[in-house]
Amino acid sequence: MRLRIVILGSGGYVSTPDRGFPSIIVDLGVGYYMFDVGEYTSRQFFKAKLNPHKLKAIFITHRHGDHVLGLPGLIINLYSAGVTGKGSIRVYAPYWCEKQVRELFLNYGGLRESVILEYNFFREVSGGKPVYSDDYVEVYAMEMEHSVPSVAYKLITRSSGKVIVYSGDTKPTSRIIDFSSGADILVYEASFSEGEEDLAVSLGHSTVKHAIEVAAKAKVKKLILFHLGLQKFTNKRFNVGRLEVIVPSDLDEIYV
Ligand SMILES: [Zn+2]
Ligand SMILES: [Zn+2]
Repeated sequence: MRLRIVILGSGGYVSTPDRGFPSIIVDLGVGYYMFDVGEYTSRQFFKAKLNPHKLKAIFITHRHGDHVLGLPGLIINLYSAGVTGKGSIRVYAPYWCEKQVRELFLNYGGLRESVILEYNFFREVSGGKPVYSDDYVEVYAMEMEHSVPSVAYKLITRSSGKVIVYSGDTKPTSRIIDFSSGADILVYEASFSEGEEDLAVSLGHSTVKHAIEVAAKAKVKKLILFHLGLQKFTNKRFNVGRLEVIVPSDLDEIYV
């Protein structure tokens, strides 16, 4: 089974002409798993020519707007594209952001469309038991350290045992190193530039340097820098020792 990651938005809390708000798709061929759903995710989803009927679940890391505000627009557009079964789109989020996620629809007229949603607010945030499983994958959640409660997710494929970890927003911690140990792919936030480490940590974020340190300590195979700000990169791919680092652009596809 060929596994692909589609970067819908590679930016952070400020979007730029080149980078939209955070969202990625993990595509197993048989279905898609979405992580975070920032504004414009719907537009990116259709631009990437993804199949609306293949979206199995949406995983939200935390309540900040850059990670959730695209949900109502996405649901309304999926409904318009023919996804109509009750509860056919499953949304997973830690229990502490239940109120904010449920209230997202209050400012939209799409209450009819919202029936295609099924919410799952889970309490297992220590990576112990999966918060989601189906015939193809298991997904685990682990609490991170951010300015508000937030989780990282780990997706493990049943057939090939591939491991993809998505950090969400966090400062560097031993927990993300343990959680992503040996992963095939780590998608890790690098909100700030090298040299801004103190500022980043004080705001519950990480820098490019932090991302590389975490990935190297966890011995992951590939690091995808994510939640990027205004940093300028000269190369889209580079190596730090044995670690391969990818600087994605929106709508990039990365094969695992
Ligand atoms: Zn964010
Ligand atoms: Zn945040």
